[in-house]
Amino acid sequence: MNRVYNFSAGPSCLPLKVLEIASREMTNYNNSGMSVMEMSHRSSVYEAIISEAQSLLREIMGIPENYKVLFLQGGATLQFAGVPMNLMNGSGKADYIISGNFAKGAFDEAVKYGDVVAAASSKDENFSYVPEIKREDIRSDADYVHICENNTIEGTKFQKLPDTGNIPLVSDSSSCILSEPSDVSKYALIYAGAQKNMGPSGLTVVIVRDDLIGKARPETPKIMNYKLQADDNSMINTPACYAIYVAMLVFRWLKNDIGGLEAMKKINVEKAGMLYDFLDNSKLYKPTAKKEFRSIMNVTFVTGNKDLDDKFCKEAEKTGFVNIKGHRSVGGMRASIYNGMPVEGIKELVNFMAKFESENK
Ligand SMILES: *Cc1c(COP(=O)(O)O)cnc(C)c1O
Repeated sequence: MNRVYNFSAGPSCLPLKVLEIASREMTNYNNSGMSVMEMSHRSSVYEAIISEAQSLLREIMGIPENYKVLFLQGGATLQFAGVPMNLMNGSGKADYIISGNFAKGAFDEAVKYGDVVAAASSKDENFSYVPEIKREDIRSDADYVHICENNTIEGTKFQKLPDTGNIPLVSDSSSCILSEPSDVSKYALIYAGAQKNMGPSGLTVVIVRDDLIGKARPETPKIMNYKLQADDNSMINTPACYAIYVAMLVFRWLKNDIGGLEAMKKINVEKAGMLYDFLDNSKLYKPTAKKEFRSIMNVTFVTGNKDLDDKFCKEAEKTGFVNIKGHRSVGGMRASIYNGMPVEGIKELVNFMAKFESENK
């Protein structure tokens, strides 16, 4: 079987070139005589891999000096608890913006740790838009404000970050990190599971401003403590060695083959634009996210007929477009078009969609 176009929301497709390099290096990495999977994380060969991963990520994203970059495990989901454990240490209050299912997940976890409120929510319209908040909506003594920047399930994105004044802004950027340039200095903390835009699952990146760490709650497990992880170069225990290695290859690809985040954004805008233009002009398919909040990473749409949605997904799969079924909370279809999805994949998907439309009028 040939490689398919994989529209999975995560784990998702990786650049073919990265997979080919990893496969060439699989059994004997850089003349070490062993696979990256087999080597000590304390070895000098591995030290070089993790430090290159960190320096490339810093360079690509323009991460300021006063931010720590951590390579952790447990997924974005563990950070739903990690964030309050480390940052809810002043008033014990935190304000969450509920813009989708994952934002709600983060909120539900944080509630266990203190006085947590929803400052805004878009649940009233099934999270098809991103709620607006003003500074007055945020409690002035909150320890932080939490957002989910790109709503993976619903296909919406904050087009502009909320103005939180002096209150630290924390973002779950799992499904949009590295999709376009962003000003890291506007965030207090960014966290992201790797399996959307960075590499295999098992790795979670945390980027945190250094004045915010070192005040974790006493019950915080050692491996969830940002300060202790930063002091130990993310190696309090064995890190996700192989996932970090593949992420390093993805960062090299982004820098050398794509040419950085401006160039990546251009490609992503082109890809999403092709799909949304087609949807907007179609009589069969309807995009579900409000136009002004559309994500360029996750494109959600329905036909309005459940049986036809199912038929679409089945035929798409047979034609080589897999994992395009939408999340059950939205229904219909979702094409996740992360960095690894080539432009060609979108062109061919649009052709398939047009053909399906003409056959199912
Ligand atoms: C995928 C995803 C998660 C869950 O990530 P895990 O790494 O599986 O814990 C959380 N938030 C967002 C925005 C996601 O896209």
